[in-house]
Amino acid sequence: MTEALVIGGGPAGLMAADVLSAAGHSVVLAEVMPTVGRKFLMAGKSGLNLTKAEPMADFHAAFGSDAPHLADALAQFGPQEVSDWAEALGQPVFTGSTGRVFPTVMKASPLLRAWGRKLAAQGVEVRTRWRWTGWDGDARHFETPEGGATLTPCVTVLACGGASWARLGSDGRWAGLLLDQVAPFQPVNMGFAVPWSPHMTPHFGAAVKGCRLTAGAAASQGEFVVSHRGIEGGGIYMISAALRDGAPLVLDLLPDLTEAQVEAKLAAASPKQSLSNRLRKALRLDPVKRALVNELGRGSDLPLARLIKALPFPPLTPRPMDEAISTSGGVRFAALTDDLMLRARPGVFCAGEMLNWDAPTGGYLITGCLATGRVAGEGALRQLQAQTS
Ligand SMILES: Cc1cc2nc3c(=O)[nH]c(=O)nc-3n(C[C@H](O)[C@H](O)[C@H](O)COP(=O)(O)OP(=O)(O)OC[C@H]3O[C@@H](n4cnc5c(N)ncnc54)[C@H](O)[C@@H]3O)c2cc1C
Repeated sequence: MTEALVIGGGPAGLMAADVLSAAGHSVVLAEVMPTVGRKFLMAGKSGLNLTKAEPMADFHAAFGSDAPHLADALAQFGPQEVSDWAEALGQPVFTGSTGRVFPTVMKASPLLRAWGRKLAAQGVEVRTRWRWTGWDGDARHFETPEGGATLTPCVTVLACGGASWARLGSDGRWAGLLLDQVAPFQPVNMGFAVPWSPHMTPHFGAAVKGCRLTAGAAASQGEFVVSHRGIEGGGIYMISAALRDGAPLVLDLLPDLTEAQVEAKLAAASPKQSLSNRLRKALRLDPVKRALVNELGRGSDLPLARLIKALPFPPLTPRPMDEAISTSGGVRFAALTDDLMLRARPGVFCAGEMLNWDAPTGGYLITGCLATGRVAGEGALRQLQAQTS
């Protein structure tokens, strides 16, 4: 008989399986895709930002109003523990200048392979192409290549991920099985469509660096990329929830100068110069920043220095949810006990992005998934131990 069933083979589910199997319990991990960890591997394509080395108060603050729900999990398995965990799997990490922590190899596959070997040695049985489709009392039903299958485990950990990048398995279809315990999904950490004029075409793919982005009360100082779809990248993701909720985007192209200083530099330039040359020579704006001033400032009656300091974007439309790095929504914390067990289903625990929390990119997502995977795994472990004692 299966003692513990984990559904979903992303970082949250793998961590729960690790906790349960390390304690000597038999674990089956069911994963709908042909292999586990596909979204984790995709995260590795941009370097695999595992966590962020910064004061814990700042780390917690990144989770906004969801921070209290994650505080215990992060206290047990926060940035230091994530780094130690990766190193224990034979993957040294380094901390970048902004505090972001990456594996030295800047990809996920060696870490995932090492983790897979550890789990196999601990006896975890992975069943791929198994889609969880429903439940009936203690029975968990699956679609498998061989037809329907049913398991009746003593404890279950659900770790089915959010609702973006469906082609990697995280399609959010599981929400139909939990109904009123689930808050609606919304995209987070996503790009926005911008109806660029043809003048912007030469700048597609260019990074806009060293600017400050503001959306209502939210602000970021990262960089972003101009693409044929619009704008995307870390600086945008940081404020994407505010933008999604309708706050207008305003760009400060020279955050280290005051408006008066910008005005003085422009005044010192020869009035015979073209606008583009003044921006280039007096303010040293690079081509993409000059193009943005032309594109977004066209027809504005604001003084040029004001535009440089507060360049307004037109109303933005979020890119489709499936393209988002992550989603908010999912299982409500009110439906869960402190150890992430569903109140309505004793013995069933939930972890990772399928819970209703969100955070900006920067390592917070993977850390939150690993930390909640541990809490759910440990909760399931206590339940198993209580059943067998
Ligand atoms: C392009 C990209 C870059 C990213 N970069 C970073 C980064 O650098 N740092 C960071 O912190 N985060 C990053 N993320 C986010 C991070 O990858 C996710 O937050 C994390 O993988 C979520 O972990 P999870 O285990 O909760 O869910 P997932 O990783 O989504 O795993 C859930 C698993 O459950 C399976 N599943 C779903 N439904 C079922 C079902 N019914 N039956 C069986 N199996 C099911 C899925 O196939 C999937 O394998 C990135 C995401 C993307 C898309």
